[in-house]
Amino acid sequence: MLTSEVLVLNAGFIPIRITSVKEAICLLTSEKAVSVLEEDRYVRSPSLSIRIPSVISVTGYSSFPRKKVAFSKLNVIYRDDMVCQYCGHRFSMRELTVDHVIPRSRWEAVTGRDLAGDFSSWKNLVCACRWCNSRKGNRLISEIGWALLREPFEPEYMPHLVISHDKAEKKGWLPFCSINVKIIDVIPDSPIHPSPHTRARVI
Ligand SMILES: [Zn+2]
Repeated sequence: MLTSEVLVLNAGFIPIRITSVKEAICLLTSEKAVSVLEEDRYVRSPSLSIRIPSVISVTGYSSFPRKKVAFSKLNVIYRDDMVCQYCGHRFSMRELTVDHVIPRSRWEAVTGRDLAGDFSSWKNLVCACRWCNSRKGNRLISEIGWALLREPFEPEYMPHLVISHDKAEKKGWLPFCSINVKIIDVIPDSPIHPSPHTRARVI
């Protein structure tokens, strides 16, 4: 129970992180936070009986840290909203990969640059389902008549928190999640690629 999750808002009610019930209770009892939403369950000790918080707001902290978006495979997938940039379908995380649009073996010939630069960067990586990734192989999309859903780009900002819709709904967090949170649907695994396999369209 003490490890279950609590949404932490800043003083302006913007979600900034998720913590444990244990830490949330420490913040509440030391008056560094106030309770915003509680569960129907209690934590009891000989000296304390407190309703389990689900959302708290830390007092005296009204900003939230803006930081450069870290480059990572996961963030490439989130940038692309878990949508394969080749076929345009959404997939579960387990079925998604990150693909180099211009493959390693072709990079120098196509771009005239060596691999040290922006080969593995926001601009050459896209979210791709494992089916498209494997079908594409070491080819260029122009060679197989595919197009990207949109040009890959470096995002200036991404929400700090990624929370599944199911969890946010179950815990009553949804009303607090309009800023700084990316709500994602958990998509079930599909045993085969959705059919028909539509060709990506250019936006
Ligand atoms: Zn695909």
